[in-house]
Amino acid sequence: MPDDRLNYVNGEWTESHTGETFETTDPASPEEVVATYPQSDAEDTEQAIEAADAASDDWGTTPGPERGRILTETGSLLAQRKDDLTELLVREEGKTWSEAAGEVQRAIDIFHYYGAKASDLGGTVKSSSARNTNLYTKNEPLGVAGLITPWNYPIAIPAWKIAPALAAGNTIVIKPATLAPGVVHEMASALEEAGLPDGVINVVTGPGSTVGDAIAGHSAVDAVSFTGSTQVGNAVYDTATEDGKRVQLEMGGKNPTLVTDSADVEEAADIVSAGAFGVTGQACTAASRAIVHEDVYDEFVEAIVERAEAIDHGHGLDDPGMGPHVSESELESTLEYVDIAEDEGATLECGGNELDREGYFVEPAVFSDVDNDMRLAQEEVFGPVLAVIPVSDFDEGVEVANDVDFGLSASVVTDDHTEANRFVEEVEAGVVKINEKTTGLELHVPFGGMKDSSSETYREQGDAGLDFYQISKTVYDN
Ligand code: NAD
Repeated sequence: MPDDRLNYVNGEWTESHTGETFETTDPASPEEVVATYPQSDAEDTEQAIEAADAASDDWGTTPGPERGRILTETGSLLAQRKDDLTELLVREEGKTWSEAAGEVQRAIDIFHYYGAKASDLGGTVKSSSARNTNLYTKNEPLGVAGLITPWNYPIAIPAWKIAPALAAGNTIVIKPATLAPGVVHEMASALEEAGLPDGVINVVTGPGSTVGDAIAGHSAVDAVSFTGSTQVGNAVYDTATEDGKRVQLEMGGKNPTLVTDSADVEEAADIVSAGAFGVTGQACTAASRAIVHEDVYDEFVEAIVERAEAIDHGHGLDDPGMGPHVSESELESTLEYVDIAEDEGATLECGGNELDREGYFVEPAVFSDVDNDMRLAQEEVFGPVLAVIPVSDFDEGVEVANDVDFGLSASVVTDDHTEANRFVEEVEAGVVKINEKTTGLELHVPFGGMKDSSSETYREQGDAGLDFYQISKTVYDN
């Protein structure tokens, strides 16, 4: 039986006034409805924003340790429900059990991390050049934070916005992605149980163009944190900045792994395979371009094809090597890029076919002979499709790595420390890794991109993740 889920507004679980609902289905078994949700509109969103606004003063002056206690308790409640959350995430979004369990654990850790941080957020005491003067900075919350999140990390991304926003004393209206909203409801439920006052978090489901747009455009919302595609992010930015809101954008990527001639090719293939094909390639930091020195190119192509062909598929609950795409349209988009790449003259070395089974499954694809000007090398595919691009030396490799509009994550596989250092210096990306896959980052370090991948002004995660949700006053007390 599908779950009937509701909006969470001002501490109440409520239907949309539209009376309409939408369904989520299991991408590995699309006939199966997982849950129904309110198909909300601008009026529902407005009520949620008003509730968040009304709760703002009280939550903003709640002592940090109390805010922290609620976040820590929420982390513990989520930990108790880890298996249920993992199952819900697998059934709505399609990740494998291991991938989903890792993501749920990340959300738990985030609540504990910011729970501990909440006591330390007051500001900083400075020494004044004047005698008898206390000089200090005092941090204050912004007010109402509007959070708009994607489906591909449906619990971790909302968690890394919700927890710092609450720790810093903001109230929240969140619109989770329509394909996989269930785990956000579960977080709101855990926050409620942990004692979060009414109105401090509000969850509204519905179309991005209605609910998301209403959040971005509402004058009572003080800040908007968006993660999703570059196209939608730019539209959200335009709407939200019209009345001067603070905006944080985390968007797409076209992430390179540079394999130099000093690399251990087997190790490089392991690294690229994990970065390109993990989470079915549906990661903003997925390695979608392997830029490979011509001396090791053929050997690398052979090794990466071997790994791609060894990946097995299945329902996420059975923990296969690869789960399905999240939806039919995402599957179709990946298949279309396979056709585009073939038309452009790239060589399909393996994969690229839809699987002859129930669900939105595709074989991971490897293309060789890719030119960096091809659409395959320039546009975000958001599926398990790898472009292998030959280069004649390290300098050309870095040039190709940078020759895209995006700049989120980048890695280099090399045995040469000078090359590694040069890569760190020269590559245009917010996350740079040496002998590591492009995906994955610990929660206590800043995350964000350059160029079209990010708004660049504010990072997420770690201490940096708190900066977006606070403003400081400098105080002289003589
Ligand atoms: P999307 O841009 O389609 O949607 C993101 C969110 O915005 C959803 O909640 C959606 O409903 C909402 N939305 C849609 N139209 C809107 C509008 N007009 N106004 C306001 N909100 C609107 O992205 P997606 O398909 O959910 O996620 C995949 C994308 O997210 C990829 O491009 C991926 O690279 C990116 N992503 C980036 C990061 C990062 O940290 N940089 C992390 C994960 C995903």
